[in-house]
Amino acid sequence: MRIIILRLGHRIQRDQRITTHVALTARALGAEGMLLDSDDSGIGKSISEATARWGGTFYVKNITKWKSEIKKWKEDGGKVLHLTMYGINLPDAIPEIVSTAANLMIVVGAEKVPPEIYELADWNIGVGNQPHSEVAALAITLDRLMVAQGKDALRTQFSGGEIEIVPKRAGKEVKSR
Ligand code: SAM
Repeated sequence: MRIIILRLGHRIQRDQRITTHVALTARALGAEGMLLDSDDSGIGKSISEATARWGGTFYVKNITKWKSEIKKWKEDGGKVLHLTMYGINLPDAIPEIVSTAANLMIVVGAEKVPPEIYELADWNIGVGNQPHSEVAALAITLDRLMVAQGKDALRTQFSGGEIEIVPKRAGKEVKSR
C-alpha cells in the first residue's frame, strides 16, 4: 500500500514542532511523503535535511488547495482516511481499508479541520475515541496498517543517507555510509 499524509490547519508559529514530528513519524513508519497545506517552507527544509542525513526518499510538498488535492487523489483511484477522534474505531475498519486501498491519503488536523473533510473522506477513523495527538494517531495507524499487510513498520528500509545507527544494548554507535 502506498501512503501519503495530508496535514491540514498548520499554524506557522504554533505547530512547527508538531508538524515536523508528524512528518518524521510518517517517514520513519513507511509513508511516501506529506502534503502540507501551508506556505511554511521551514518544515520541508528540516525534513529534507533529515532525509539527506538518514536516508530514504520522503518528501514534503507545500500545497494551497487541499480540496483539489483530495479530489485529484480520488479521481486517480486513491482512498482517503481522515483521522478524527469522532470516527469509527481503527480496529473495526482495518480489514476494509487494507482490502480496498492500494493508494491511501491519511489526513491529520492541527486546529479544527474544515467540516467538508468528513464528507470527502472514505473513512473517518478514531484511534480510540478519546482526544490525544495527531502524532500518536498517525503512528498507531501506520503500524496497524502494516501489520494487517504482514509487514513491520519498524523495519522500514532507508538507503542513501549519510549516516546509519548501529543498534546497541548500551551506548551510541553511528557509522558513515
Ligand atoms: N481541537 C481540534 C478539533 O477540535 O478538531 C483537534 C486537535 S487534535 C490535537 C489534532 C488532530 O489530532 C486531529 O485533527 C486528529 O487528526 C488527531 N487526533 C487526535 N485524537 C485523535 C484520535 N483519538 N483518533 C484519531 N485522530 C486523533
